[in-house]
Amino acid sequence: MLQQTQVATVIPYYERWFKSFPSLSALAEAPLSKTLELWAGLGYYRRVRMLHQAACYIQEKLQGKIPETAEELRKLPGIGRYTAGAIASIAWGEKTPVLDGNVIRIFTRIFAVAQSVDRPATLERLWSIAASFVAGKNPGDLNQALMELGATVCFPSNPHCARCPVKKSCAAHRKGRELFYPVRSQKDRYEKLTTAALVLKNKKNEVWLEKQPEQGRWGGLWMFPFWTHKKEMLEELSPSCSKPVLFLIVPHAFTKYRITLEVFGSLAKTRVSWKRPCGRWFPIGKLARIAFPSPHRKIAQALIARNGLLNPLFPGRGLAERKPRARRT
Ligand code: SF4
Repeated sequence: MLQQTQVATVIPYYERWFKSFPSLSALAEAPLSKTLELWAGLGYYRRVRMLHQAACYIQEKLQGKIPETAEELRKLPGIGRYTAGAIASIAWGEKTPVLDGNVIRIFTRIFAVAQSVDRPATLERLWSIAASFVAGKNPGDLNQALMELGATVCFPSNPHCARCPVKKSCAAHRKGRELFYPVRSQKDRYEKLTTAALVLKNKKNEVWLEKQPEQGRWGGLWMFPFWTHKKEMLEELSPSCSKPVLFLIVPHAFTKYRITLEVFGSLAKTRVSWKRPCGRWFPIGKLARIAFPSPHRKIAQALIARNGLLNPLFPGRGLAERKPRARRT
């Protein structure tokens, strides 16, 4: 839960999670939809899907016993070399290293590693350095200390060297070249894309969402309808919907792509029957409790903040829409 998320945000999620799933077997027996519901708002839903798969695997194949070595942990869904090292060293005291972005930064600076960290050979060298450090007592404490040093002192662009406990051993600091490390070979290898999503709203203040197939990247999550090109959206949109107008832009990254998601708003004038799979209408008031991938959660948050109004990003482009009248009680 803490990956890419702040501790204060995580605490209520953590408490709710353990209330619902007090044991590994409870998690393994729960449907994926229930885990996604409890995760809604934390983003990066691949983590929860993998966690659920790992719990099922342990329950079914390992008789409920969590592996105690990094090598065995790596056989579980969603557990890579870094996570296996962190669990095995911190939970079980195994002398096994960790290497994440923070630790890479620290070691390339301390040892002035001038080779690109994009090369597998450089990463292997860094894994070996990390392994040589973890050979002593309390490997879990050492690994946590390295991660903390990277997160709280050895910052990427503003390292606090004056208060660094290893400054006397740091080659980059001695040379005054802290920011030179870590070296990367290609700075800009991203591809830019502009895609389109649609917020289709009906007269009952509901929006159309579609559940993604279980096997895909967004398996089990809900999303607004989306297209690779705006043109495809316009072709598919029913005549009973108003002309879509741009009301939000959500930039986001996905593997090598830097995506500009243009979000359009349209009003369903009459009953719309779409030949799109797995879709249904949701009241805007209920969107906060639905599991979306991060970019679509931002769309939902914008809708909630605007009280359901699809105000055009560039006024004067149509989409006449009145604020719903307050109900008399
Ligand atoms: S001395 Fe500076 S660059 Fe070197 S490890 Fe410490 S904070 Fe990082």
